[in-house]
Amino acid sequence: MRFGAHAFVWAPDWSDEQARRAASGAAEAGLDFLEIPLLDPAHFDLQGTKRLLREFGLGATCSLGLPVQASLPERPREAAAFLGEALRAAAELGSPVLTGVIYGTLGGAEGHPPRQDELAVVAETLSGAAEQAASLGLRIGIEPVNRYETYLVNTARQGLELIRAIGRGSVFLHLDTYHMNIEEAGFATPIREAGSDLGYIHLSESNRGIPGEGNVRWEEVFSALAQVSYRGDLVMESFVAPSPQLARATCIWRPVTERPGDVVARGLPFLREQARRAGLPVS
Ligand code: MN
Repeated sequence: MRFGAHAFVWAPDWSDEQARRAASGAAEAGLDFLEIPLLDPAHFDLQGTKRLLREFGLGATCSLGLPVQASLPERPREAAAFLGEALRAAAELGSPVLTGVIYGTLGGAEGHPPRQDELAVVAETLSGAAEQAASLGLRIGIEPVNRYETYLVNTARQGLELIRAIGRGSVFLHLDTYHMNIEEAGFATPIREAGSDLGYIHLSESNRGIPGEGNVRWEEVFSALAQVSYRGDLVMESFVAPSPQLARATCIWRPVTERPGDVVARGLPFLREQARRAGLPVS
C-alpha cells in the first residue's frame, strides 16, 4: 500500500520554492507520494512539477474544492469545465485520482439542507466528470466533509448515495477521519458500510494537528480498514501550512500544533505503526 501526505503538511502554495519544500519533506519522510491541491489547474506548472516529482522519486495524487465561480450546484457548466481542466492536469501529473470536495465549494453554507434538485445537478455534472476521468484512466473521489464546510455531503452514507446517483464505475468514496470524528457515530461503521467503494482516506487528527495526539480512535480506524481489506492510498493530512484561502474555508484560526515538526516526526511513524499492527501491508 502507498503512504502519502497532503502538501499542506509543508507548504501553503505551489510556488517553485514551496513545491520544492513539500517534495523534499515528503521524500525525506520516506513517503510514496504527495497529494497536490489543484486549486487553479489552468495556471499550474505541470512540467516543473513533473520534473520535481521525478527528482525526488515521488508519485502524486490530486485534490481540490470547487472555487466559488465554478461551484455546484449553482454553476454546473463552469464546474464541468473546471473539473475537466483539473482532470487533464491530474492525468498529466500521473495521478490515478482527482478527489476531495469536487462536488461543491468549501465554506459554503446555504442555510437549508441539500435539496433533491441540487443533488441531481451535482450527480449529473459529476457523471460527466467521471466519464472523462475514465477516458483518461483516472477515478474521481467524493470526500464528505463536516457540516460547517458544506451542506451537501457530510457523511459516508450521503457520499455513497451520491456515488449511486452518479452511477459510474470510476467513482469512489474518500473518507477523512477529521470529518468522521465530527459527523459519524464512530469510525468502524462508515468504513464497513463503504466497503469496496472506499478508495482513499485522509488520516487527519481531530484538531488537524499531530496524528495520535487528539481524539480520533485510530485503532478502530485501522482495524476497520483491515476488515474491509482496504488497499487504497493512506494519506496523512494536517494543516500545518494551509493556504490563506483554505485556512479561511476550513476555519484554521491558529496553529494546529505548537510543534509542527512533530506532524512528520511523530505523527507519521505513529500512523505507520497503527497500520502495521492492524495487518495492513504497508512498508
Ligand atoms: Mn480531507
